[in-house]
Amino acid sequence: MRSLRAVRKSFHDIPGRDGVSGFRGAAAGGGGGTRAAAGGAGAQRVRLQRTLWGSASHLCILVIGLAYYLVGFVSGTQLAILALLTLIINLGFIGAILSGINLWSRDPSLTFPQLFCAPWPAVYIMYFVSDPQARTAPLLMGLVALMFGAFSMSFRRLATLAGVLYGGYLLMVIGLYLNRSPHFEVRAELLIMVAYGLSLLMVARLGSLIADLRRHLRERNRELEATMRELTELATLDPLTRLPNRRFLMEQLEKESARMARRGAEQAALCVCMLDIDHFKRFNDTYGHQVGDAVLCAVASSLQGALRQSDVVGRFGGEEFLLLFTECSADCALKVAERVRRAVATVRVPELGAHGPVTVSMGIALHRPGDDMDDSLRRSDEALYQAKAQGRNRVVLAEPLALNAM
Ligand code: GH3
Ligand code: MG
Ligand code: MG
Repeated sequence: MRSLRAVRKSFHDIPGRDGVSGFRGAAAGGGGGTRAAAGGAGAQRVRLQRTLWGSASHLCILVIGLAYYLVGFVSGTQLAILALLTLIINLGFIGAILSGINLWSRDPSLTFPQLFCAPWPAVYIMYFVSDPQARTAPLLMGLVALMFGAFSMSFRRLATLAGVLYGGYLLMVIGLYLNRSPHFEVRAELLIMVAYGLSLLMVARLGSLIADLRRHLRERNRELEATMRELTELATLDPLTRLPNRRFLMEQLEKESARMARRGAEQAALCVCMLDIDHFKRFNDTYGHQVGDAVLCAVASSLQGALRQSDVVGRFGGEEFLLLFTECSADCALKVAERVRRAVATVRVPELGAHGPVTVSMGIALHRPGDDMDDSLRRSDEALYQAKAQGRNRVVLAEPLALNAM
């Protein structure tokens, strides 16, 4: 039933989020949904994008390495090794994602391997820089990488990254000390060690605040989406039968009418059909309103089942339903209405006992391009009145208008 689907579709059209949650997918947020979602093209694209951001920071280290070489801190061979190391690490991760090998892992975003590989090119090149002051340049890159992470990683991930960065740096300092480098200045190194450690700690803390904020915003977003769905439902669905309500029907009628006017062809005709349950009041009076409601719901679902995909049905009010037969001639409308009438006659509501079956009367009006919408509704109502007068449980077609506004 197009009407109902259209309403439901509008609920689902509210944009959702990518299946990859948190930095580098499932690893950061505890799940990217199903396996299919993990391997989805969208999720892989996000992972590749994030890996490329990681590569960008590696590239920055390479640029710093080049600067070291140009000012004479490192040799050409050391720079070449740095470039090779950078290339291997980055091509490895990018290749793993492009080929889909990453999907074999429980953490398809390869978060831990990427975090683990992050500091080593920098550690390698820093080791050869004799001036402690010049050696601090890659440390700044470490802070920048952590800052980037702050916008997408959980505190745990951030703390891990900070730990790996600091650990790499400490190993380098210990290496320098053990090799009794002539340029090793204990006081300066200690000062940098403390400052770097504190800076990493502060940025990781800032990241955890940002992560909290993001979580809070995500929750609010979910609540808003749910409220939007409820509001759309309230505005367009009849709460009892779950069919589109009168307001939605009128909108559809206007849309169909405008569409038909644009086409302007006879075969694009639209038929308006008013349907009313016969002697409905008796059900209410005899069995109470609850049974009356059950009859309404049963009729509603049989209407849905009997109509074509392109037709529209909704509750117009009380025990009246409006059906819109799109791209349907008068003959076609009569046939469809007859099928609907027979379908409703098969409806069984156990509580009704001897008062079953439920029958309906219908009045159809042909709505042609240029016809007034209210006028078509009125004519279908008049035809319905005739169906009632002729004994109910039947379909009556309204006389076509002699003159058309077109
Ligand atoms: P007719 O064959 O001429 O249409 O007779 P009828 O009894 O169906 O028509 P009438 O207009 O006399 O009665 C309609 C009844 O529908 C009256 C009203 O109380 C009842 N009704 C309207 N809305 C609802 C509803 O949501 N639930 C229930 N249970 N009854 C409703
Ligand atoms: Mg009525
Ligand atoms: Mg009635």
